[in-house]
This record gives sequence, C-alpha cells and structure tokens, in this order.
Amino acid sequence: MGRSRGRLSASALTTYLRCPRQWLLTYQAGLSGPKRPSQILGVVLEEAVCALMMHHPPPEVVGPEGLRQWAQPLVDELATKAWEDGRKAWGASLWKAEKASWDDVTVASLVERINGGLDLFLEEVKACFEQNGGPFLETHRSGKSPFSVPSPSWGRAPVFPLPEKLPDAALRRWSADSSPAWQAQDERCRWNEAWECARPWFKDPRVHQPQRLYHPDGWASGELDLVLRWDGQTRIVDIKSGRSSSPFASSLEHQLRFYAWLWHQTHGGEIAQGMEGWYLADSKRVIYSPPTTDEMSGLTTSFRATHEAMQNAAEGVLAFPGTELEACTGEQAGCGWCAVSQSESGTWVGPDFSKWIASATQGSLSSPYQNLVSIQGRVSVRGRLTGAWGPMSNHFGEPVLGALLVVGDQHITVEESEPGAFQGLHNFVDQDVVLSNALPGVWRDQARLYLDQRSMAFSEGDMVEEPGPFTRLGLLRTRANVAGRVLSIGQRSGVRIDGKPWSMLSLILWDGSHIAEVVAFGQSISQRLLALQPGDAVAMTGVELGWRGGILQLRIDNRKTRIETPRSA
Ligand code: SF4
Repeated sequence: MGRSRGRLSASALTTYLRCPRQWLLTYQAGLSGPKRPSQILGVVLEEAVCALMMHHPPPEVVGPEGLRQWAQPLVDELATKAWEDGRKAWGASLWKAEKASWDDVTVASLVERINGGLDLFLEEVKACFEQNGGPFLETHRSGKSPFSVPSPSWGRAPVFPLPEKLPDAALRRWSADSSPAWQAQDERCRWNEAWECARPWFKDPRVHQPQRLYHPDGWASGELDLVLRWDGQTRIVDIKSGRSSSPFASSLEHQLRFYAWLWHQTHGGEIAQGMEGWYLADSKRVIYSPPTTDEMSGLTTSFRATHEAMQNAAEGVLAFPGTELEACTGEQAGCGWCAVSQSESGTWVGPDFSKWIASATQGSLSSPYQNLVSIQGRVSVRGRLTGAWGPMSNHFGEPVLGALLVVGDQHITVEESEPGAFQGLHNFVDQDVVLSNALPGVWRDQARLYLDQRSMAFSEGDMVEEPGPFTRLGLLRTRANVAGRVLSIGQRSGVRIDGKPWSMLSLILWDGSHIAEVVAFGQSISQRLLALQPGDAVAMTGVELGWRGGILQLRIDNRKTRIETPRSA
C-alpha cells in the first residue's frame, strides 16, 4: 500500500541515475510537483490498449485492415472510458499544474494513441499469421495455455498473484460476450487466431493485487507493462503514451535493462531475447539489445551498489533546501526543487510552480511547536525480548517480524520498519537484549519501536560497549507538535491485497529548514486536509511519529491529532 522504500524499482533507478537529489526528494521524502495531465494519460492509455488486446475477433475477419475495422468501435469506446477515468483521476488530484486542465485532453487524441498501440500490436499479429500462428497455435486450439500465467483475455478468469488472500475469489464470475474462435487442429491459421496467439502478457486490469516481479533476495522489484512471447522468444515491452522523441526517452533503455535483469533473476536465469519501447503517440517501436548472460552479474553488482547507495543516502529529518547542489533547470526531469533558495538578505526564491515561496515568511516557531530537526530520532533501549510473531501485516499491509520488549512491568512492541529490514529479530527471543539505533513511533495509540538496517541488537551478555545513553520506555517520545508550510500535497487510493479499499493523503511540511512527510489514512483524511494547498500554513499537535526507510514520516490520528490552518501570510 505504502511506497516501498526498501526495494529498488525501475522508476527509482532511472530517477537516481538522472539525479540522486531528485530521487531523494521524490522517493525518500515523498516530495512531488503539481500534477500534469500527461502523468494520468500514461496510466489510462496503457489500460485501454491492454483492454483492447483482451477482446476476441470474429473468425471471419481478414487481414490487418479487417482487424482494424473490427477493432475501431472498441477503440472509440475505450477512448471514451479512458477519458472518463482520466477526468476522475484529474479531479481527485489535490495539486494541479497551473493553467493545466483535463479539458485540454480530447477523446480524439486518446483514439489516436490507442490506435497507435493497435498498430504496434497488429505488426505482431501479422508476423504471427505469417508464421502460421507460431509454435503454440495447436496448444491454444486444444484449449490449454502454453504459459503458466496465461495472457489476460475477456471471459478467461484472471490469475491473482495471491489468490489465497481473496476470500471470494472462487465466487467471482468472468464471463464475456465473446470468446476465442479456434479452428480444428492442423488448419491454416486464421487472422482471429493470430490475434489470440500473438496476445502478449500484460498487467490484467481486473487484478488489484501487485503484478510484480520480486527479486528472490527482496531488494528489487518491478512491474512489467507487457511481455511478447507468441514466437517462443521473450520480449519485454514498456508502453509510453508520448512520442519516441520525448526528453524522458533517454531513460527507457536503463528501465528495460533493469526489467531484463529482473526477468533473469526471477526466471531461473532465463534471458529475455528482446526489449522494446512502444510509443503510442507516434506508434513507434524503439528496439534495444537486451543484456546477455555474461552481463548479468555486472548488472547485479551495479544495481546492488545503487540500492546500497540509496539505502545510505539519508536518514532522520531531511534538510530543505539542500545546500551543496547546483540546481538544474528541472525541465528535463519535471522537477525544479533546487530552485528553492534563500539569498543572504533572507529573501526566498522558488520554482515557477511554487511562486508563493518568494513571498513566504518563515517566522520562528513558538511553543508548543518544535522544529522538525529537533524531533527525537534513534534511541537505545534494553530489556527482555519475548513473544515473537510474524511475518505479519503492518499498518501498510506489509509482512514484518515483531516481538515484545519487556522492562520491569512495562512492555513495548518492537517491529521491523519494513519487510526484511531487520531479519535477525527473532534470534534474540527470550534473551536480555540491548537494541540500539531503534526508531520510536506509535500505532493505534501504542508506543512502538521500529528496527531497520541501521538498528543493532545485542544480547546483554555479548555487549562490549554501551551504544550510548539508554532511553527509558516511559520517556520515549511517540508524538510531536509541528508547524510550517505545505510544500506539496497529494492523495492516492486503491485496493489492498485482500480486496479491502485504502486511501492515503500525503503532504510535505516545510518549517523553513527541514521537511517531513505527513500522512493520513482513511478516516483521518478530513475536509480540512483535502482543502490544503502548497503555501498554506499548517500546525499540528499530537501528530504520531513514524519512520519509512529511516526517514521521519508523521502520521495524523483523527482522534488525537489537532490540526490548525492559520490563514496568516
Ligand atoms: S532541480 Fe534538478 S538538480 Fe535539483 S533535484 Fe531536481 S532534477 Fe535534481
């Protein structure tokens, strides 16, 4: 549910390679710029192109032109639905780019781009037809799928990565108003059959669970857009809603090499034979040479090094603006945050999308509010570790290890901050232990201690040197009073692995020298929060302490957190 900051992903990698500072602000701090329609277009168009390929052409259709004519009404219908879905997503965006509007997006432009995807797919269908349906035609005709995860199609039940998490999976019906029309064995392949055979694997729009590849060691993961495999070769494709001339095109090869590497790591060393970018706006296919077997260990080393650099990039409370970096213009990366700076005379300047910064005055904080940087960070505690459990879902729905630390008549829950962040926790059960570099927090009003890669545990007997002053459980700070300005704000919603809906609002609070992400879930998302905009002043008392990837994340608890939004300049 929450952003996993512990795993390397393709988008995090390409952002980091483009600018480590942008990666830190975006992926670690959660700072985002104003929403642009193009960011929504990518999602709704990809779903529309995939939904189109899930349909079943009639047996009488002939040739690519025949298939195009049959598909046109579907394209129009899907374009209208994509426009409607995009309009809703745009409406739900809390911070929109100035002068941008979803009305600038026309259904006709969506039709054009979906047709761009259709063109690219029809090239596959044509090649498949010319190869008499490819090596799997007869398997398909026998009603079986040649693949453990079949290509999604209407009328065929989807494959859920975790079906056991779906109580009603068996009750769901997946019927459709059309089905594949296969001929008898050994007949010459027909065009509709070539469509069915050429259909690639892609994320099934009916499946809400993450359809991702997870590295067996847990430190990398990726969600592929599309995998072509009708000819027995594996080709990894990434769908882009824009033109092949877009400024972001330069990072596509890095992204695809990461996917090809992940495929190798998660498919018993199998190599992808091809990797392509499909650009919908100009229906261009950009082909890259995939990494060879010999290159794989080098890629593992470099990705691992990047991941470690990311893990060690920062922790605690992030300073903003950064001091040392020269600002790029930001256009290239759709960023611009380095433009925020203060002159010697004290006046602020900021990027175009945050003009309010120039007129903002950051007065000194008065009680009860404290500067973000003064919030208590890592602590050392000692006690007896008992009652181990897990992996069990944490409040982000992620499986983590937990245990209980008992000190006299007091006890506190100790938990991994993220899956795999402190795998040795249970090795210390039923021992007197020292936990150092632990992160204090709270959940459902109960204080908690989080352990991550920087935390350490010793059994009392093995401790050579005291890790620094110990904090008594009763003195652990689990809440804070903070104030500042909203730097960015956004919200997301979705469906959990078990089918339950979730919603999350995230804003970045800036107190003039440091930033912290403030999140609210479900019922804690109030109208007052939803009405906040960048530049607004906000003050909160009793906000919960939490940590993501060792970085401060404050959580709003609608029963205990008091929010004020002074209308002052
Ligand atoms: S403004 Fe440029 S240099 Fe600064 S973080 Fe963004 S991309 Fe990087």
